[in-house]
Amino acid sequence: MPSADPFLTVTDLRTRTLTAAELTAALPRAELDVEAAVAVARPLVEDVASRGAAAVLDASERFDGMRPEHLRVPPEALQRALEELDPAIRSALEESIARVRRVDGEQVRPADSVEVVPGGTVTQRWVPVRRVGLYVPGGRAVLPSSVVMNVVPAQVAGVEQIVLASPPQKEFGGLPHPTIMAACALLGITEVLAAGGAQAIALLAHGAQDLGDGEGLQGVDLITGPGNVYVAAAKRLVRGIVGIDAEAGPTEIAILADGEAHPAYVAADLISQAEHDPLAASVLVTDSPELVGAVEVELASQVPQALHRERVEEALRGRQSGVVLVTDLEQGIAVVDAYGAEHLEIQTADAAEVAARITNAGAVFVGAHSPVSLGDYAAGSNHVLPTGGTSRFTGGLGVQTFLRGIHVVHYDREALAGARAAATTLARAEGLPSHGSAIDIRFAD
Ligand code: NAD
Repeated sequence: MPSADPFLTVTDLRTRTLTAAELTAALPRAELDVEAAVAVARPLVEDVASRGAAAVLDASERFDGMRPEHLRVPPEALQRALEELDPAIRSALEESIARVRRVDGEQVRPADSVEVVPGGTVTQRWVPVRRVGLYVPGGRAVLPSSVVMNVVPAQVAGVEQIVLASPPQKEFGGLPHPTIMAACALLGITEVLAAGGAQAIALLAHGAQDLGDGEGLQGVDLITGPGNVYVAAAKRLVRGIVGIDAEAGPTEIAILADGEAHPAYVAADLISQAEHDPLAASVLVTDSPELVGAVEVELASQVPQALHRERVEEALRGRQSGVVLVTDLEQGIAVVDAYGAEHLEIQTADAAEVAARITNAGAVFVGAHSPVSLGDYAAGSNHVLPTGGTSRFTGGLGVQTFLRGIHVVHYDREALAGARAAATTLARAEGLPSHGSAIDIRFAD
């Protein structure tokens, strides 16, 4: 029996013909989005830009409930955390690291040289970003897995300097969580900051003259990593001063399922992401009203068992979560593409074929045995992924995020002669004849 008080609000699109814009507007989205959070994050970011460490400490006191003694985590604290790490967690982290490293190692793009004409080549060189700032969440939950997801691709890319920030924890004396510190030590990361939220992002972007220990902090060139809506908003604010990976904000799962899907799996996966944040989005897109009823029955039985049941319930009942009923899988594909979920599961017949047609998603999980939780920890894929529909124009974190493509152009005189007419004609057409002269002068003798 479906629950009398269903968790998920149903949007029925079966009888409606919508334009692309109307479809996007009809889909569930959070009330507090990144743009709204920018208003909260802006004064924090500006304060850190002007007052440095003192502003970070003030914000810590306000949001984390304490002023950490060390903004820069002492190296011995990192080593101690590794020595005290539970061996089972250490070996799970090592397994996760090995899988992500294997994928990143094979997915780094080689330098490509194209001989455009004899004697004229254009080479794409991939050059690592020099100094990067990696954010690892530590608010409602602490995510040592995010240390792995940030650090491994940066190291595979060959980044020279890595600084990692994670919120100070009151119960651990204002240091980041011990498992996060241990994961840093395991990966050889020595520059770690006890700072969270928007203030951490601002600190990474702007650096500080004195971090409270008499030494400065150099700002970074690129910031990556997931976080809550304030972290995502701060990343939006510092973009331009530094690069960012994507707005990897409150998590989202969309599941495209047909009547063959296993309701218990669907419910478990919706709950798994709702566990992150009251703003997390869990969206089921299906052509089967029977599946909706069966999933509600499963939710009614599984949600009360969840450790974080209140947070899960708030997320499932929030405006950002729900069911979208569609006429058929064709419409289902259009809906999930319009939504552009951070995580998209395909639980349908011929799931691989359906997955191959998806164009907007942070990551796609295919079939009954590829849950999002697998990707969170141990698939080898990256779990830092674009949210809020930004998968339309950006992908998830990976080794390429830390590399910049530089075109290296090398033409000899003959090859330049072959391009001379095209280049000088276009230069004249653009009213920039000096551009043309810079080519003609090489043939003056
Ligand atoms: P967090 O580290 O992102 O945020 C905690 C910090 O937020 C605190 O240190 C505090 O400074 C700041 N903060 C809290 N309340 C605030 C307020 N009202 N105003 C201003 N700042 C405030 O940890 P979290 O809160 O647990 O969030 C982790 C987030 O990361 C979740 O939303 C989760 O879904 C998301 N996540 C996203 C991805 C992704 O790739 N998209 C991956 C993993 C996790």
